[in-house]
Amino acid sequence: MLFVLAPPLDLFRLDLNQGHFILFGLDWTLGLDAFQRGEVGPGTAALNLLLRGFLPLLLLGGGLLWIAWRYGRLYCGWLCPHFSVVEMINSMMRRASGKPTLWEKQPLPERQPTGERIIPDRRYWLPTLILVLVFAFLWAVVLLTYLLPPEQIYGNLIRGELTRNQAVFIGVATLAFTVEFLLARHLFCRFGCAIGLFQSLVWMANKRAMVVGFNASRASACASCNAACDNACPMRLKPRSIKRKMFTCTQCAQCISACTDVQAAHSAPSLLKWVEDECALQVSDREHGRRHRDTTKCFRGVTVHIAAPDNVQYQTAQQRNTQ
Ligand code: SF4
Ligand code: SF4
Repeated sequence: MLFVLAPPLDLFRLDLNQGHFILFGLDWTLGLDAFQRGEVGPGTAALNLLLRGFLPLLLLGGGLLWIAWRYGRLYCGWLCPHFSVVEMINSMMRRASGKPTLWEKQPLPERQPTGERIIPDRRYWLPTLILVLVFAFLWAVVLLTYLLPPEQIYGNLIRGELTRNQAVFIGVATLAFTVEFLLARHLFCRFGCAIGLFQSLVWMANKRAMVVGFNASRASACASCNAACDNACPMRLKPRSIKRKMFTCTQCAQCISACTDVQAAHSAPSLLKWVEDECALQVSDREHGRRHRDTTKCFRGVTVHIAAPDNVQYQTAQQRNTQ
């Protein structure tokens, strides 16, 4: 919603007609027009450039990288407009085919951590494809409103009076988004997004950064589970793995929620939780062949959730038939 509404509400956009950004309804210029008109000297112009250009960029870029260094790719899992589409289309494809992506080799188990059962139904393909097209078109239009006045774009669209360049932009972007949403949405997050890649790189540099930790001392509990955490991961990662293999983790916490639901049926706490500092070393250092630290204290006090009655039944059935 924020991604769609930011331009029409003038929260943030670049107006190519005016040649500057608009932030919270205010013009964000570099202040060089006054210098070109001869109203201010070179010293004032340089100061304007520093305060209105370099400094905000430094603070924004530095802030994003600091958050990634300390907490991982928070932006990706919680703010990125692309990732919300990844999650939504994954879930629709799973309903249609049992697989969250076309590249998954085998369908995932029908039983969900909450006890719900998702039986693949090919009738979901039509709404899935419609959803892909709607999001591709919407994202293409919204992207254009970040560059040109939103009232002009939406007005031209409603009246059917888009200029040739506007129509070409929306057409090409819709096609590109359609292909990407259908075939490569999580691949783009993993390998194609520069913002995600830099966040991952600085996150990897901090071994004590927040990461999904696995309570290895209770690993035997996984024997009666159908790898619900792996199945829930929209990035198709293995959350019980070492940090290097979770390089593209978006900190979405869906694996933790899945394990919380699974373990609730046993009145036990989740085996997965956020860890940081000393406890994060267990995830980071394992890849260097170091011995496991005692992680018991890292998992003390994890809340036990109460399972829905259906889920208790599911777990009992699941233990007989580990799908
Ligand atoms: S490993 Fe967990 S937190 Fe990371 S992307 Fe996968 S589900 Fe989200
Ligand atoms: S969801 Fe929890 S119990 Fe199931 S495999 Fe993952 S960590 Fe183990």
